[in-house]
Amino acid sequence: MRLLSKGSKMYSVLFNKCPKCHIGKFWATNNPIKNMLLNSKNTCQKCEYCSLDYELEIGFWYGSMYVSYAISVAVMVVFWTLTSLFFPLINIFNEILIIVLAILLASPINYHISRLIWINFFVKYIPNDTY
Ligand SMILES: [Zn+2]
Repeated sequence: MRLLSKGSKMYSVLFNKCPKCHIGKFWATNNPIKNMLLNSKNTCQKCEYCSLDYELEIGFWYGSMYVSYAISVAVMVVFWTLTSLFFPLINIFNEILIIVLAILLASPINYHISRLIWINFFVKYIPNDTY
């Protein structure tokens, strides 16, 4: 599986790894809910292995909101399609309620993964053990 092996962007995003070395952790824990609730204490500032400063510039994380928005739209489309397929006579307000609940329940994972995706746009994997 080349897509999920070390060196691919997907590896860094799915396994919570530093985008540069793929060894150090990006988030302090792998639990998205814990990361969201304890954000100020739990966000790693630097990679413990290669010392990459995760905040590449001031306000860098604002860009991850675009990724988060795209993920939210994807969740919305999936749940809209599912509710329309399985409950064709559903009231529109109930459908909107289901979609909003799905987005809220997915928000910790969305927050967790959107920052990883965003930093992977800008940082290249460097397979080197001499950091
Ligand atoms: Zn690293």
